[in-house]
Amino acid sequence: MTGDEGVTWLVEPKRPMSVTKFSGTLVHNSRRKDTCSQTVLAFAHFVFGFSKQTLVFADLQGTHSQVKGRDGLVLFDVMTHTIDGNSGMGDFGKKGIQTFVDQHVCNSICKALGLPKAMPLSLDYSEEARHDDDSDNGNSAAGGGDEGDESD
Ligand SMILES: [Zn+2]
Repeated sequence: MTGDEGVTWLVEPKRPMSVTKFSGTLVHNSRRKDTCSQTVLAFAHFVFGFSKQTLVFADLQGTHSQVKGRDGLVLFDVMTHTIDGNSGMGDFGKKGIQTFVDQHVCNSICKALGLPKAMPLSLDYSEEARHDDDSDNGNSAAGGGDEGDESD
């Protein structure tokens, strides 16, 4: 009985001091043109698309480190913007997601991965059903406007 019950410690290996910043909480563009920066920002685009526009990584920053014996980049302290706005500090909800859509400019990595076409930078919450989870507990589908487009 030390009084530490219920306390959780998160520990990680010591990182180098120099931090490279790729995006801010509400700033998702970058003047950095190096391959590493472009890759991280393309990753942010991928996450936006893969999450079906429900999640945006923000405040992306990292330190260059050895990862499994090779040069790598360790991202840390990532923030997220989510539909519900309840993922933690700095989650601006839909407004935060919108800033990503407004500001992200696809770079050569995005284009090489086909992200602009496969995961377009637009917000369309009207097709709330999202088509791959079959039921949405009967909540009203599109809030208003044009519905009836069943196919995807
Ligand atoms: Zn992109």
